[in-house]
Amino acid sequence: MNISAFLNECENDLRETFSKLEAVERFNTRKILKAFQEKGVSYRHFTPTTGYGYDDIARDTLETIYARVMNAESAIVRPHIASGTHALATCLFGILRPGDAMICAAGAPYDTMRQVIGIEGKAGTGSLKDLGVEYRQAELKADGSIDIPAVLALIDKKVRLVLLQRSRGYEWRKAISIDEIERLCKAVHAASDRAIVMVDNCYGEFTRENEPTSVGADVIAGSLIKNPGGGLAPTGGYIAGGKEMVELVSYRLTCPGIGSEVGSYAADYRPFYQGLFMAPHAVCQALKTANLAARAFEKLGMEVSPKPGEERDDIIQAIRFASERDLTDFVRQIQMASPVDSYAVPEAWDMPGYEDRVIMAAGTFVAGASIELSCDAPIREPYTAYMQGALTYEHGRYAIERALEALA
Ligand SMILES: *Cc1c(COP(=O)(O)O)cnc(C)c1O
Repeated sequence: MNISAFLNECENDLRETFSKLEAVERFNTRKILKAFQEKGVSYRHFTPTTGYGYDDIARDTLETIYARVMNAESAIVRPHIASGTHALATCLFGILRPGDAMICAAGAPYDTMRQVIGIEGKAGTGSLKDLGVEYRQAELKADGSIDIPAVLALIDKKVRLVLLQRSRGYEWRKAISIDEIERLCKAVHAASDRAIVMVDNCYGEFTRENEPTSVGADVIAGSLIKNPGGGLAPTGGYIAGGKEMVELVSYRLTCPGIGSEVGSYAADYRPFYQGLFMAPHAVCQALKTANLAARAFEKLGMEVSPKPGEERDDIIQAIRFASERDLTDFVRQIQMASPVDSYAVPEAWDMPGYEDRVIMAAGTFVAGASIELSCDAPIREPYTAYMQGALTYEHGRYAIERALEALA
């Protein structure tokens, strides 16, 4: 098989899909440029600060821009937020109080969130459960959509927060569409005057024209080494939402009374601005790469999710391989096709907190950044690789080409 010709053919099949993705990129680029221009972004907004960071104009302006882009009243965008999990946990601990209940609306939450909530891990860590927050869970329907009546059935006066994970995470299910998020928010708000909807927006940013906060979500959070950092942000996380919610979260971020008024950063803020500016493009490159992989592997008779051309609300592409050998080869080729650590050979290992061995490829400039081309796979049947990212489509295509050569 001539692999390059085969990929040209796949690209041809995807022409309409690619042009739809480019339209979303254009829309989001315009939205971001408008926010930059309204705030008059200039070199002084990139300047490092030290100490308390009172009146840090770089930080304050960046947060205002994020709020506008996310269609929210207020936002927190900080290098000190160590990861997506940290951003999400800060929201939960900031909003929930002893005696409250929370609901997960899309089945079990992302792995790392389980210890935060206290449904896994040992007692005494200061999880939400330790602090007296009750946990309830609604399963997804068989077709992967939210079971809104099941969520509503769990709502009573104790329920303060409904958490929705937008992305599939590392599961064989579809991402939750922005329309479904809107329906859930309407239903929850109609059923309760106390329950708010929080969305784990990791991997979802800029995949669509609207963010969850544009369709009724009260608060969202995510990681800057995923979509909104555009591959340039070196670290950090963001939170966006209604003014009151974000204020509550800010008291957990630092402390009650002080909130988001402090927090300096002694390095350059430029990568956070430039990364946000690049983000719609990076997301589009990642989505094109995901579609190309979906089309190519589907044509070879393999199961893929989502399917090529299907609407996407996250950047993850799941691909099922016939054997452990094929799965491992695929992950290794992704690593070998990387700009960084291309000589490293990924091995499956016993990652803390996971039942099966996991193999990963991440030859990324920013350590662990999954807006850059990367891949994760638990070693278990059915042998599924979860691939995401690619800062340039050309890199994505090159990696897929190498993987196809290795499998041929
Ligand atoms: C990545 C991710 C998280 C956690 O982010 P980390 O930065 O790895 O802590 C949470 N939820 C979803 C859906 C994610 O994709």
